[in-house]
Amino acid sequence: MDVNQTRLVQLFTSLTAIDAESFHERKMADHLMDLLEGLGVSVTMDESGKATGSDAGNLFGSLPGTGERAGEEPLLFLAHMDTVAPGRGKRANVREDGTITSDGTTVLGADDMTAAASILEAVREIKETGTPHRPLEFLFTTAEEAYTVGASAFDFSRVRSKEVFAFDCSDRMGSYSQTEPTLISFSITVKGRAAHAGFEPEQGINALLAAARAIASLPLGRADDHTTLNIGLVQSGTGTNVVPALAICQGEIRSLVHEDALALYEKTLACFQKEAAAIGATASGEKVIHLTAYRIEKEDPALGRYQKVLEELHLPAYQKVQYGGSDINVVRRKGLDGICIANPMYRAHTCAEYTVIRELAELAAIVRGLMLS
Ligand SMILES: [Zn+2]
Repeated sequence: MDVNQTRLVQLFTSLTAIDAESFHERKMADHLMDLLEGLGVSVTMDESGKATGSDAGNLFGSLPGTGERAGEEPLLFLAHMDTVAPGRGKRANVREDGTITSDGTTVLGADDMTAAASILEAVREIKETGTPHRPLEFLFTTAEEAYTVGASAFDFSRVRSKEVFAFDCSDRMGSYSQTEPTLISFSITVKGRAAHAGFEPEQGINALLAAARAIASLPLGRADDHTTLNIGLVQSGTGTNVVPALAICQGEIRSLVHEDALALYEKTLACFQKEAAAIGATASGEKVIHLTAYRIEKEDPALGRYQKVLEELHLPAYQKVQYGGSDINVVRRKGLDGICIANPMYRAHTCAEYTVIRELAELAAIVRGLMLS
């Protein structure tokens, strides 16, 4: 696989040393821009920060093809720049056992800097060896961890590539997300009437009671074999001596079938409305669709390209069903072909996050294989 592992690890740890929590990606964006320009990539930062509230925009870059391959179709490589919290002051520890961890007080940032480092290292190596290559495009997004709002604000009409490769799937190497869910978050407000709980409780209409009855009758957890439902926040009440006039319940629905997610939202709202009406209260809801489900078919060109590269590298191929969602949800919603490929990030989103050096080198080899495919 002949990847320069030492240089790759150095690059990875230097990237993870940069603070880049969601909406605060500016330092990371500036640094990646320098590195990309150093490799001959022309890069621009878009204006999406105004819409997303991030201090940076998405980075979009392109590198012309070379030699006899200059006229071929480009391919786009994608990683997200942001990390979840706690992600300030990250310090990577390269360990004897071949893993890299944080110091235990922050996440590591393997999500998604294993991807960024592998993309950069693959380009660097292709340039160094002078291997003729097709035109390449690059997209580094902001705020993926906040329901992919960075990618959603990117103007995909700028992209010439038809196939997009993202590396943002926490599973064993050789995996990819065969399907990712629709994700809806919602807020349902039950309105009753306040009354003194001791003097005239019969004048009150207890919004919390209606909400509690609705929640008790919902299929919380795994609603069916491909759909989950959660009510995660309930706000209600103004005092122990007041019949609560208001109950606000917030939750989310994930489903591998888009229509099923929408239907479960309607069912959830109807359930609140029924229980509210039963005691003379009302219920209304608001929803936001953050992600739209997709499924990758066997004949998918990007998948075929990925599987061929795995074969050439003698790596096994797996598929997984992911309930996370990624920028690929956006890519596919915009009508491009794209897959989300596994990268070595384990226990992501916790302070125990780690990566495996051997697998990081494998990822760089996969990326290079895709670029040269
Ligand atoms: Zn990620």
